[in-house]
Formats: sequence, structure tokens, C-alpha cells
Amino acid sequence: FSSGSDEVEKAKLAAAAREKYGKEPTIFSKIIDKTIPADIIYEDDKVLAFRDVNPQAPVHFLVIPKEPIIGISKATDEDTQLLGYLLNTARKCAVSEGLSNGYRIVINDGKDGAQSVFHLHIHVLGGRQMGWPPG
Ligand code: 5GP
Repeated sequence: FSSGSDEVEKAKLAAAAREKYGKEPTIFSKIIDKTIPADIIYEDDKVLAFRDVNPQAPVHFLVIPKEPIIGISKATDEDTQLLGYLLNTARKCAVSEGLSNGYRIVINDGKDGAQSVFHLHIHVLGGRQMGWPPG
């Protein structure tokens, strides 16, 4: 048994979750649960790093949270630690990938940002000279 105000609270939480996580799981959820293969370079309980299937540089990998946040614009203040953890993981993987001359980190968001997979991911690209501005 729950009171009416509990129901309202639950509906609000569900709406907030839909906004943050979406309705459909993405291909990255399948990579996380290993139902599709990926070339994984780092994994722990919070994050996964794996090579991009369509690399745009000699080294191109993605760092994603296991929590299926749609994109950086849908993250909340509660995700501050996780966002820092993602960036720090990207830094450590760049070291293990030998990117000692530098690299580019990119987060595409939404339509204007040309995001194509709606599960937050950090791109790390390196092993060649980058240009600026990006396209
Ligand atoms: P976005 O355009 O959303 O920033 O980047 C999505 C990236 O995910 C693209 O660079 C794309 O090549 C990569 N990608 C999409 N599907 C897969 C997949 O199934 N496996 C891997 N490893 N990368 C993928």
C-alpha cells in the first residue's frame, strides 16, 4: 500500500530516469553485458574502455560509464564524481596506449554535436597530428 503522494513521487522519479537514461538500451549496453564483442582495454565496476570499431586515428578508444546516461547534457550534479572518474580513466588508458605525444578527447552531444550512440562516451584519439577546428 502506498499513499497518493508516494505515487506522484514515483512518477516524478520515473520521468527523471527516462530523461537521463532513455527507453531503449543502446549497442553499448550490449558491449557492457558482453552480448556483443568489443576490444576492451580497461574495465572495472564503474567504467569500460574499448576500441572504436571505426577508428578515426591510429589509436581511437571510447570510455563509457556502465550506468547508461544518455549523454553529457543529461548528466546531473550527482554524476560529478563519475564524470571525473571517466576523464581520469581516459588519461590512464592514454598512458597504457602509449600516447606520450598528446591526444584529443571529444564528447559529442545531441544533434548539433553529431552524437550517434545515446550512451555517454568519451572519445580518445591519438597517434597522429590533430587539426583545429574540428569539423
Ligand atoms: P558518437 O558519434 O556518438 O560520438 O560516437 C559513437 C562511436 O561509437 C563512433 O565513433 C562509432 O564508430 C562507435 N561505435 C558504434 N557502434 C560501435 C560498436 O558496436 N562497437 C564499437 N567498438 N564502437 C562502436
